[in-house]
Amino acid sequence: MKSDVITCKKCGGKFTWHEYNGGYPGGKDRESVDCPYCGEEAFTVVISGVVAVEKVEEPGTDETVATMTTLGLL
Ligand SMILES: [Zn+2]
Repeated sequence: MKSDVITCKKCGGKFTWHEYNGGYPGGKDRESVDCPYCGEEAFTVVISGVVAVEKVEEPGTDETVATMTTLGLL
């Protein structure tokens, strides 16, 4: 599994990516992995499927949610 967290060189956003098997065996193609925040191309990979990117929430976001939960706001 590819679970590396990518940091966008343009906006600093963190995200991960994985490959969806597009159902086209053997048809390898060069796909770009784009930042989900600003659309900057991070790098390209040669895969047979398609690239899906997923945002990695900043730790601060989780802390905020945890604090709100503690305060009974959620
Ligand atoms: Zn970005």
